[in-house]
Order: sequence, then C-alpha cells, then structure tokens
Amino acid sequence: MTTWHERAAALQADGRAFIGGERVWAKSEQQFDNLSPVDGRKLGMVARCDGADVDIAVAAARAAFEDRRWAGKSPAQRKRVLIKFADLMQKYGQELALLETLDMGKPIKYSQTVDVGGAANCIRWYGEAIDKIYDEIAPTPSNSLALITREPVGVVAAIVPWNYPMLMASWKIAPALAAGNSVVLKPSEKSPLTALRLAEIALEAGVPPGVFNVLPGFGHEAGAALALHMDVDCIGFTGSTRVGKQIMQMAGQSNLKRAWTELGGKSANIVCADCPDLDAAVEAAIGSIFFNQGESCNAPSRLFVEASIKDRFIEKALALVPNYAPGDPLDDSTIMGAIVDATQLKTVMGYIESGHADGARLLAGGKQVRTETGGYYVEPTLFDQVDSNMKIAREEIFGPVLSVLSFTDVQDAVRQANDTPYGLHAAVWTADLSKAIQTSRALRAGTVHVNQYDGDDITVPFGGYKQSGNGRDKSLHAFDKYTELKTTWIQVG
Ligand code: NAD
Repeated sequence: MTTWHERAAALQADGRAFIGGERVWAKSEQQFDNLSPVDGRKLGMVARCDGADVDIAVAAARAAFEDRRWAGKSPAQRKRVLIKFADLMQKYGQELALLETLDMGKPIKYSQTVDVGGAANCIRWYGEAIDKIYDEIAPTPSNSLALITREPVGVVAAIVPWNYPMLMASWKIAPALAAGNSVVLKPSEKSPLTALRLAEIALEAGVPPGVFNVLPGFGHEAGAALALHMDVDCIGFTGSTRVGKQIMQMAGQSNLKRAWTELGGKSANIVCADCPDLDAAVEAAIGSIFFNQGESCNAPSRLFVEASIKDRFIEKALALVPNYAPGDPLDDSTIMGAIVDATQLKTVMGYIESGHADGARLLAGGKQVRTETGGYYVEPTLFDQVDSNMKIAREEIFGPVLSVLSFTDVQDAVRQANDTPYGLHAAVWTADLSKAIQTSRALRAGTVHVNQYDGDDITVPFGGYKQSGNGRDKSLHAFDKYTELKTTWIQVG
C-alpha cells in the first residue's frame, strides 16, 4: 500500500488561478513559493494574482451571472449539480486531504474526516436545501398580491483564512452557489491548494465556467482589490478582526457591497464546582484548545475554573497534555500537527514569552519541537495564574496555548468571560439547570456550549457577537447573506 509520504513525494501541486473554467497564471506572471509547514519543503509555485486578475475574474463571474447560465437553472437543477460536486469531493477525498495537510500542517486523520468530510457535507446540505425553501406572500388587502421573494445578490467575493481552508471556503461557496450567485474565492496565501482543486471539481460536477473562480494571492493585493471592486455585490469574509475592519471600510469606500465578517475569538470555558462530569470537562478543555494546533477561531483559550476545584482540575488536565505532543502530520495516528508557517510560529512563541514576562506560571509545554524536520511545531502549552489583564488572556494567540484563570462565583466568571472585545463561543459546565440557562443567557457569544464543547454541525449558525463579526455561516440563515429580498406588489382586479 502506498504511504502518505510516498504520495506526498509524488504530488504535483498546481498553483495556477482558476478563472472562467480554466487554469491560468496571473496576468503579471508573478508567482510565490508554496512551502509546506510539515517539513519546510517547497510544494510548488502559486499565481500571485492582483487587481488585473481580479478584474478578469469579476468580469467572468458577472458575465456568468447576467446570462443566467447558473442563476437561471431551477433550484432542483442546481441541487443535482451540488450533490454531484459533494460526491466528487469524496471521490477525490484522499487527494484533497493530502493537499490540505501538506499545505497547512494539520494531521491527515482530521483532513480526511473534519475537512474533506465536513466540506463535502456542507456542499451537499446546501444543495439539498435549496429546492425546499419557499418564498412568502404578504397579508395585504384583497385588491393586491404582494410577493416577497429571494434573489441571488449577484457576484459574491469570498475571502477565507488558512486554518480550515476547504471548510471555510465551503461555508461561503455552498450557500452562495446554491442561491444562484457567481463566486470569486480568494484563499489564504498560506493554503491555496485545496480551494483551487475545488474549482476544478465543481466544473467537473457541472457548475458552468465563470460561476466559480478562484484567485490565489496576497491579502493586500488580490484581497483588497476584491473588497474595493465596484462590481462585486457582496463579500463573505472570514479572518482576523484587524482585517475584518479593513474589509468593512473598503466596502464603504467603494460600492457599499454587503460585507459579512466572521472574525477572531478568545472564547471562555467556565467550569463550575458543581460540574456534572469533571473528566469530560477536562477532556473537552484540553481536546478543544489543542485541536487543529490551537488554530481554531472558537478554541476555548481562556479556561475559568472555580477556585475550589482548580487544583484537581489542573492535575487531571496535565495528565492529558502529553497525548497532544506534536507528531508527523502524515502519520495516521497523529492528533496534533504543524503550525501553518514560520510567521505564525513566531507569533505563538512571542505570546508564550509574554506569558512568562507577565508572571503567568508555565505548567506544561512552551517550546518549539521537531525542528530537525524543517517544519514548525509547538508543544501543547498550559499557563496557570493568568489574570484577565495579561496579553495571553486578552489577545487571540491562534496556537496551542491555554490560559487558566479562576473565579469565585458564576457572576464573577461571566463578568471576566465577557470582558473581551470578542464574542464567538463560550461554555459553562454545571449540574444546575437554572445556573446553566442564566449563564448562557448572560454570556455575550454567538454560541454557548453547556456541559460539552464540541457540539456543532451544519444545521446551526456559526458566528460572533461584538468584534467577532457580524455574519453567520452555516444553517439556513447563511442564505440571508447571499440573497436579496424583493417585494413585488401586484394590483388585482
Ligand atoms: P487574516 O485576516 O490575516 O486573513 C484572512 C484572509 O484575508 C486571507 O485570505 C488574507 O489573504 C486576506 N487578507 C489579508 N489582508 C487583506 C486585505 N488588506 N484586504 C483583503 N483581504 C485581506 O486571517 P488569517 O490569519 O488567515 O486567519 C486567522 C483568523 O481567522 C483568526 O483571527 C481566526 O479567529 C479567524 N477565523 C474566524 C472564523 C469564524 O468563523 N469566525 C473561522 C476561522 C478563522
């Protein structure tokens, strides 16, 4: 049987853009190196698209939208194509998983299940949904008939990050395509390969040329040109809060395109002394912060443990930490892989240093490891005696670093948990139903978990309060972002 390493060695990554149904290099012929965080090896060259390529891709998307080659198909026809798209993603699942792991460093085990599995499920779910949604008739006087219908917004630009490249792309493109829009997707410069392959697979499934275009490139070039473009109707952005603010400014500065943002987080995980299952709480706290190398927007990076059970909790947590020692991402048994690149590695190590400098107590990890591989690996890291003013408790680290804080009563926990500009996820662990409900109501976050942390699927909205963004991915609510509501008032008789 061929091993993942043999397949990786044989891989020919294609970094050309995908515009109007074809693979093309950037007009400028500029390219950039695509390095793997697994071992630092060069996977290939990628097209460095800029404003000129954005103009071409947006024009292709606009032409496809105007001649209704996709928007004009019935919902049932679009459904069939999207379901085939999802089936093909699963057919090419191993190739997609390998690209994802080599490009961003996550364990191959999860690339296959969470990333390929989740992305294909997302495309299928929106395909299946689109011919089951009815429009409305308003309760107007009898001499009129007022229809409230949904229409695609037109050309959607999707700009996505590197932490779940295929999944984040699918959360945007699936509802946008299902609703009949044309899409220009800009993946992160750190992980462009699966998005480019998705466009080829979509074409093979029957998505017409021009309807789904992918432009690799840098944020300040291709990304900014999309956000400023006068012929882009809507932008679906997932990324940092810093860039999210710029996206909203660029939307305002240009054509007031609808700008939906899904941004960073600093999620609080509150464990009360009456937690019904302490072992489950410990496992969730540790498993969720170290999953995906801590590079998850909703990672519970602030752990609040009630003072009376803190020592016991930490003892149990420390017993689990070694299970998350980073390993070879191409080994099927690895559950923690490589940090995406040298820049992010430096950021994470900088936060670990700041934890030391601010007086937090390091309980585990804290070091870069596996340097002999040429890749970027950081130990699972735990800091105790963190207070809410420390940098590691306030800023999104986006790496495998957990800060442990404590509280005296649940009101104190909620106050500390809400004391952040972010509001993505939060959790509370308690056996007291009223306390669980009151606390989940008081937490300012888009998702609140009760007595678990990993409950999530495509049926529920995902997004944040406050500076974690203004949009919601997933569920039927995502259609709100990619459709316009039209009123048609008809005089009767
Ligand atoms: P980032 O903001 O640096 O980049 C995101 C995307 O924006 C990339 O494609 C990048 O090229 C592009 N970009 C950068 N500068 C730009 C500019 N000036 N104009 C237009 N586009 C620009 O974020 P990242 O480092 O790729 O991703 C990590 C961030 O994403 C974290 O903050 C994380 O919390 C967040 N995230 C949020 C969610 C969510 O659903 N809320 C999900 C995943 C990741």
